[in-house]
Amino acid sequence: MESKIAATPFEGWGFDATRPLVIAGPCSAETEEQVLETARRLKPTRTQVFRAGIWKPRTRPNSFEGVGVKGLKWLKMVKEETGLLTTTEVANAQHAYEALKYGVDILWIGARTTVNPFTIQEIADALSGVDIPVCVKNPVNPDVDLWIGSIERLQKVGIKRIAAVHRGFSSFSETRYRNSPNWQIPIELKRIRPDLPLICDPSHISGRRNLLLEVSQKAMDLNFDGLMIETHPDPDNAWSDAKQQITPEELGQLLGQLILRKTDPGSNFQHQLEALRCEIDRLDQELMNILEDRMKVAAGIGQCKKENGVTILQPARWDQIISKYLAVGEKKGFSEEFIRKLFMAIHQESINTQTKIMNDE
Ligand code: PEP
Ligand code: MN
Repeated sequence: MESKIAATPFEGWGFDATRPLVIAGPCSAETEEQVLETARRLKPTRTQVFRAGIWKPRTRPNSFEGVGVKGLKWLKMVKEETGLLTTTEVANAQHAYEALKYGVDILWIGARTTVNPFTIQEIADALSGVDIPVCVKNPVNPDVDLWIGSIERLQKVGIKRIAAVHRGFSSFSETRYRNSPNWQIPIELKRIRPDLPLICDPSHISGRRNLLLEVSQKAMDLNFDGLMIETHPDPDNAWSDAKQQITPEELGQLLGQLILRKTDPGSNFQHQLEALRCEIDRLDQELMNILEDRMKVAAGIGQCKKENGVTILQPARWDQIISKYLAVGEKKGFSEEFIRKLFMAIHQESINTQTKIMNDE
């Protein structure tokens, strides 16, 4: 597969290539007035592409599922009145035909579609021979190959202008994000496919307004080429994703606050370093979680000792632990000094935890 790196990320796309490309607009098109008002208020910001979902993939039935085809007319009006390019999500071949019929400028494939090669193939077949840019969101699960696979299916039918959109990944455990960013996945995508512009969707990663700036800045620091941010004239009353939407004016402020550092597109070094740092962050977080679990068990032991009137420090047990892990550590190539310090610190913290329990009434 051809993967020529363009001099600027959106070279040949017909856009001004200044970073970041800004795609903004409501999660969902709701009414003609709401769509047009959002676009008019976005016009003074540096937004280049107007987004609005017409067909909405909702997690549960009986939620608002989009206005359908009539919304495409509103997008056309946005383009005619403001000159902004337009984009909407297509989730099946019919959506693709309708969007093309109404002259939508850019299509995007949603996260729930990228996971399904059958659906992607259907959409790709519908776009065969059409010269339209397509943004491909990451699949909901952190699988870089599935993401690349969807992109390749589109390339095989002749789509040349493709961007990848990072919108975070579903996770079972509670995190501070709606969709956890797992930055190492888009970084890995960029390593494998440096030719593809990479856009971040801080709205769906954050799930709430107060994280948008932080996530957008992180994306800029990681050399992302663009941002897709949901904006609504009255965010609290949006028909979908109300908590994460901001007004067009707030978007203008957010963009003004971003610090754009110098990029070095010729070097892979920064990406590799970031990927490794993300991995370290993930492992450190796991270490903290394991230590937390260990302290909870220590607290249980403290309680047990208290109830049975036994002293906290059991020298024989401590001796057993340290000897065992000196041997394990040696096999893993750790120095004796490191193992001693590590286990002494852990042991001390356990003793402190147990002491607190002993002293609690
Ligand atoms: C959206 O952009 O509104 C949307 C539904 O996105 P995603 O596919 O990332 O959930
Ligand atoms: Mn949304």
